[in-house]
Amino acid sequence: MKTVAEAQSIILEHVQRLGVESVPIIQVLGRVLAEDVISNRNHPPYDVSAMDGYAIRSADVKGATKDTPVVLKVVDDIRAGARPKCAVGACEASMIMTGAPVPGGTDAVIRVEDTGRRSHKGRHAREEHPGEVEIWAEVAAGSNIRLMGENIKLGDTVLGQGSEIRPAGVGMLSMVKKAEVRVYRRPTVAILATGDELEALDEPLDPEKIPNSNSYSTMAQVQALGIEPVLLGIARDTPEHLKEKLLQGLRYDVLIVTGGVSVGHHDFVRPTLKELGITMHFWRVAMRPGHPMAFGTGSDTRVFALPGNPVAGMVCTEQFVVPALRRMMGFTKLYRPTVEATVAADVKDKAGRMNFMRARMSPVEGSYSVESVGAQGSGILMSMIHADALMIVPAGRDGLSKGEKVRVQLLDGGRFQAEPGLEV
Ligand code: AMP
Ligand code: MG
Repeated sequence: MKTVAEAQSIILEHVQRLGVESVPIIQVLGRVLAEDVISNRNHPPYDVSAMDGYAIRSADVKGATKDTPVVLKVVDDIRAGARPKCAVGACEASMIMTGAPVPGGTDAVIRVEDTGRRSHKGRHAREEHPGEVEIWAEVAAGSNIRLMGENIKLGDTVLGQGSEIRPAGVGMLSMVKKAEVRVYRRPTVAILATGDELEALDEPLDPEKIPNSNSYSTMAQVQALGIEPVLLGIARDTPEHLKEKLLQGLRYDVLIVTGGVSVGHHDFVRPTLKELGITMHFWRVAMRPGHPMAFGTGSDTRVFALPGNPVAGMVCTEQFVVPALRRMMGFTKLYRPTVEATVAADVKDKAGRMNFMRARMSPVEGSYSVESVGAQGSGILMSMIHADALMIVPAGRDGLSKGEKVRVQLLDGGRFQAEPGLEV
């Protein structure tokens, strides 16, 4: 029997990053880059104004206040996308819009709120230049100017090979005109349920049967990684039917089978996989839930045989399948985050295997408190409905005491909270 850590490392020894494909920008979110992306431009392309206001020489407006304004002659009106028509001399200013190029001769922009427009017809008239502007404040040299290339410079590596493409990365790809980019391929994944007792979702409800939920919870866990798996339905507990279904599944990069992997008389998954040429590396892991859990490899496929119990299957998927799929997609961070939390109430447990207890986290004074969601049977899928985390009771412990620190694995990727929580 393998420990969880041993099983994880055996799996990862047999799992490599997949090949590379080109993907259009509208589909790259969440993918891992297989190339360095190099900037083909400077951005901004020249020094531009960061404000609507006037481009000036800072020396001209030293000491300016509302009561003792400095008056400058307006020589130009520079819009975003236009070029300056002239440079600015001493005691002159050019009206300028945010994003417009800063004219020669100036070293700062003063925002429009700190100015008052004068025309030859009278103060503050709303008319185009030429005219005069009162400056009501001083500005330091360089103020309100975005320097050429301060975002990206021609030739910069803006996104590196191996990095995950996040929303800002998608924007950056468009900035450097990468409408298509090379990323690591996502694995193809097939999911097969096994069991004579199972009722398919599209069959009429029979109260005596067990609904096939594993295919769907596993499907959703795989979809959460951005992979669309193929559902192969249900294989019945006969070697013949199982063989036929497994053969279909072995055409995928990854086959996930649930149930039939234990030591019962009708658990044919392991022997049938062997018969089909799959090398089995282990079939039991010292954990709860999820004890019978097998991993095998063929030349082009990786097979995870998960326990049939709905919670056990989900917990095993998180510990073993998720890291493997992420490695195939090119990620280097493979595991769900774990944090330390304080146990909110005593929990009793049988001493033995490492136990992944379904639990809920709550923030308490800058840290976390964690509590079991209650009944922990490995068939009680409702426990996963109520849980947002797995509380890890170390092997050999017969429970946890209130106030004790424990490792907790966060489920579901991103965490969100009820309040904005931006103010202290
Ligand atoms: P097994 O691992 O095949 O012995 O199954 C263990 C338990 O999980 C049994 O109670 C099964 O009925 C249940 N089970 C197996 N497969 C599924 C499935 N696809 N969906 C829901 N429950 C299942
Ligand atoms: Mg079964």
